[in-house]
Amino acid sequence: MIGVSEASDIINGIKLKIETEKLDISETVGMILRESITLDRDLPPFDRVMMDGIAIQYDKWEQGQSVFPVEGLQKAGGPKQVMDGSGHCMEVMTGAILPGKTDTVIRYEDIEIQQQEKETVAVIQKSPKAKGQNIHPKGTNRPKGDLVANEGMVLSPAEIGVAATVGKTRLNVSRVPEVAVISTGDELVPISQRPLPHQIRRSNAYTISAALRELHMEAELFHLNDDRSEISKRLDDILKKFELVILSGGVSKGKLDYIPGILEQKGVEKLFHKVRQRPGKPFWFGKSEESVVFALPGNPVSTFSCCYRYVMPWLKKQLGISKRNQLMAQLTVNYTFEKKLTYFLQVKVEINDEGIMKATPVKGKGSSDLANLCKGDGFLELPEDQDHFKAGESYPLFLYRTL
Ligand code: AMP
Ligand code: MG
Repeated sequence: MIGVSEASDIINGIKLKIETEKLDISETVGMILRESITLDRDLPPFDRVMMDGIAIQYDKWEQGQSVFPVEGLQKAGGPKQVMDGSGHCMEVMTGAILPGKTDTVIRYEDIEIQQQEKETVAVIQKSPKAKGQNIHPKGTNRPKGDLVANEGMVLSPAEIGVAATVGKTRLNVSRVPEVAVISTGDELVPISQRPLPHQIRRSNAYTISAALRELHMEAELFHLNDDRSEISKRLDDILKKFELVILSGGVSKGKLDYIPGILEQKGVEKLFHKVRQRPGKPFWFGKSEESVVFALPGNPVSTFSCCYRYVMPWLKKQLGISKRNQLMAQLTVNYTFEKKLTYFLQVKVEINDEGIMKATPVKGKGSSDLANLCKGDGFLELPEDQDHFKAGESYPLFLYRTL
């Protein structure tokens, strides 16, 4: 039996083929960008008016003029006008292109618009601070051609906005692999069905596929009964079709736990079976030419902790998402676990005033107690070579909830 870090190293040694696909930008937040985004125009692309008010020639004000006949209106979205009369002004709106033959914008708050005989004039009440004020000159944010988002970045709403600005309607992103999520067991019925007294509903496949959704991955769900020939036949098709197969159940010592044996018969090489951990000891992992196979123990908390301790971090790595260091959290209380196993302790996590993550155990009733997961936020990984864990000590944290 191997330890947790060895299991994790073996998994991380396996690469998943990640291809590229082009998607509508509205579908790409959280995905990995597979192209670089450069500016197709200067930013801003024109001398942009930053305040509602009037545009003047500063020289005129300097020469003592304070009343400016209004010659017209330059709206945002209107083509550039050029002021005719020297000594006039143009009314301008925020976001408009600066009219020709003007160089300074004065806000409405600092002028008064008056009706004088036949003309409208603007009377300056507060002297402009400097020539060019309230104008955002063309190209001063960034010049055309500037690289704004690198290949390999995780797309946040910021990059989506930049992509939209440069007119990218579609973006090249990493194509997430096809995944089969398979529950196994004769006792499991579809969740829409009322279970008989000896049956339960299949929850694991939904937990796993919900976790995968966080990575924009869509899973196809399957169920296999504990029947050797059924498993054998259906796994043939599934292994042919899917690059990633995640099973739950059927990997322990039970008489009907056929999964490991059949997987090996199908040419899926066993890379390990059983890890010194609780929960999730019977975890099986293997690989064939076409597929990577995680066969997780069926108890819901085992499935869950294996999913967040191994499957999700590995997938993030394959997709290029995981660049940060391992999260750590401090225990808030002393805790004892004396078995020679790594213990995944369910914890509620709080971030204290100094920004430090504090983890408090939320005691459940073992690996079948999935309802207890709703009370926590993640798992703290307590190493196998230690029995007593003291308040204030930090351990790796695997979160399943955004804090
Ligand atoms: P197994 O790993 O197949 O021996 O299953 C261990 C325990 O987990 C049994 O009590 C199963 O009924 C339960 N179990 C297995 N798969 C699921 C599932 N998909 N949803 C809920 N419970 C499950
Ligand atoms: Mg079973």
